[in-house]
Amino acid sequence: MSRVAYVDGQYLPHRSAAVHIDDRGYQFADGVYEVMAVVGGSLLDEGPHLIRLAKSLAELQIPAPMTNAALRVVMREAIRRNGVRDGIVYLQVTRGVAARDHAFPKAARPMLVVTSRRRSPADPRAVDNRVAIITIPGIRWQRCDIKSVALLPNVLRKQRAKEAGAFEAWQVDREGKVGEGTSTNAWIVTLDGTVVTRQADSAILNGVTRLAVLDIIRREGYAFVERPFSVAEAKSAREAFLTSTVVDLLPVVRIDGAAVGSGEPRPLSRKLRECHLAPAASKK
Ligand code: PMP
Repeated sequence: MSRVAYVDGQYLPHRSAAVHIDDRGYQFADGVYEVMAVVGGSLLDEGPHLIRLAKSLAELQIPAPMTNAALRVVMREAIRRNGVRDGIVYLQVTRGVAARDHAFPKAARPMLVVTSRRRSPADPRAVDNRVAIITIPGIRWQRCDIKSVALLPNVLRKQRAKEAGAFEAWQVDREGKVGEGTSTNAWIVTLDGTVVTRQADSAILNGVTRLAVLDIIRREGYAFVERPFSVAEAKSAREAFLTSTVVDLLPVVRIDGAAVGSGEPRPLSRKLRECHLAPAASKK
């Protein structure tokens, strides 16, 4: 089955799907995006993703390209046409095509692109996929709460992680506190069993997986606090993990080359991942 992309009202062969070179996403990174997981044919956490999309669009004063009801139809159609049962949906909205000028163009119409691709189903119990991370000074702007397509600092930091043989780079602010990864939120479990993640201010993206995991933590009655934590605190934590739509929840077992915690098992990371993925997986 060859892939299909939705571009501005049309379903096109993915191979040749394109937007105009004057699209403001291409010229200025003037746009926003979302990535949603498809688990067993259903979109995971679809509602919160659409809420965050609306927030990102509103922050940039880009009109919604269509109603949420219409968007839900387009996403399902993209999933269907690409034969996706387990995979992801990528959705991007830019301010549209206009002659190049920094200020908002009067006439532009938002440009919507939706793609979907398959990937292997996420195994709720597969926390054997543990990862190493590095910590690195952040070089991003001050509105990281907007899910903007302007990802160059994240790209550069992720490349540094890769070159260091690590999966992710935790970006550290001037006060020495961890913000988040380049495409994931950052968490630790302190020695007394308290889960800690940075509060969702403008320094981080409020991950949909982050919100879902916080819900599980509240429901299960674990101790938690939303506050910044330092690199030293992370290195001496009992457990550390990261979350995102694409990886769900992965234990972090090395930070800057040093082992985290006392080794296996990582009971809380395991439990939270299972709780988040198991309801979706059981729908299969
Ligand atoms: N932080 C950043 C910078 C990200 O790019 C992402 C993934 N989009 C996340 C956190 C995790 O967000 P989510 O759980 O919504 O995928």
